Amino acid sequence: MWPVTGPPIPNGSVLVDPRGRIATLGPEESVPRPPDSELLRYPDAALLPGLVNAHTHLELTGLRGRVREPDFFQWIQQIRRAKEETRDETYLEWAREGVREAWAYGTTTVGDTGTSGAVVRALTELGGAGVVYYEAIHPDAGRADVTLVAVRDTVARLRREAGPRVAIGVSPHAPYTVSRALYRRVVEYARSEGLALAGHIAESPAETDFVSAGRGPFAEAWRRRGIPLDPPVATPVRLLEELGVLGPDFLAIHAVQADERDADALARAGSAVVVCPRSNAHHGHGAPPLSRYLERGLRLALGTDSVASVDTLDLLAEAREARWLAGLSAEAALHLATLGGAAALGQEAAIGSLEPGKWADLVLVRLHRPVPTLPEMAAEAILLARPEDILATFVAGRPVYQTQPGGASPA
Ligand SMILES: [Zn+2]
Repeated sequence: MWPVTGPPIPNGSVLVDPRGRIATLGPEESVPRPPDSELLRYPDAALLPGLVNAHTHLELTGLRGRVREPDFFQWIQQIRRAKEETRDETYLEWAREGVREAWAYGTTTVGDTGTSGAVVRALTELGGAGVVYYEAIHPDAGRADVTLVAVRDTVARLRREAGPRVAIGVSPHAPYTVSRALYRRVVEYARSEGLALAGHIAESPAETDFVSAGRGPFAEAWRRRGIPLDPPVATPVRLLEELGVLGPDFLAIHAVQADERDADALARAGSAVVVCPRSNAHHGHGAPPLSRYLERGLRLALGTDSVASVDTLDLLAEAREARWLAGLSAEAALHLATLGGAAALGQEAAIGSLEPGKWADLVLVRLHRPVPTLPEMAAEAILLARPEDILATFVAGRPVYQTQPGGASPA
């Protein structure tokens, strides 16, 4: 058992209470077995907290492999066109598919952004957990007020629909799709309602060209639409700092094109960052400066981004990538995929590690040989797991994915 907040426990066992929370955990012989409890055994597996995939677009699950365009600006245009042709019922189907796929990769909580609200419904229906950030998008400052009204209405509806483990946040999408006026309005609204914020920022070099020099394909697109460009700001992160977007309630998505001063600004504000190294590599955006964020003690999470960018919701693959990029230990990489993600989503008190009182969100990973209990060796074995090694995933103690039943037997 890999609790994250303590050393590995050989032959570990966890007792889940009727509310789906961890009652107690420890070596098997120390954990009580109430007479009415069901016993599941996984003798050749590691048990760890469910992974936290802090950046997904589950409503786009059906677009996997559909947009092959290498250029980022063109890719976004094609995604936008595909979305225009997608109906609400289709988004819901795709969102359900995405939730199930996340579970199959051992993820129990997602940080999702989208424009349809379908993921709120899918998570609620299926009994999943996550923070769903509803996206605010409009580049024209003259439309900021109207856009905000629509966002407020939708968010109010989503909050009514959301299940007990689905939190609603708001996401001003990105500097090239959101006017500065809309950024200000959305942030003011989110803070007045206590809603979490997230936004794509500093993802591509094209975005930096747009913000810092009014140049490149995004600037040309604004000009074509007759939307006036704002005065340049040194970097996308500094733009958010100027607009008052950064704060402890803001999750910066990607943050690849960020220099030392940007990292300082994020740290000063107490913002969290979610990096998606495989997506960045796919689009040719470079690598996120993980070490810069870790040195400053930022809350740092991992995300896959959408399957329109990467083929799978494999968060352990992101952890291996992050490890390689920042020279991390296997333990540190796994920490990012669990408690790091939980902290970035503001949920470290409820998930991200195995501790009494937290949700019994669990994943079982097949181990191919006996593993020494040295923490680094155990972490190494878990990190090397392939997708088919995920044996079972539990949300609040309920099995949501299983390739191998756990040898259920009466207690
Ligand atoms: Zn994204």
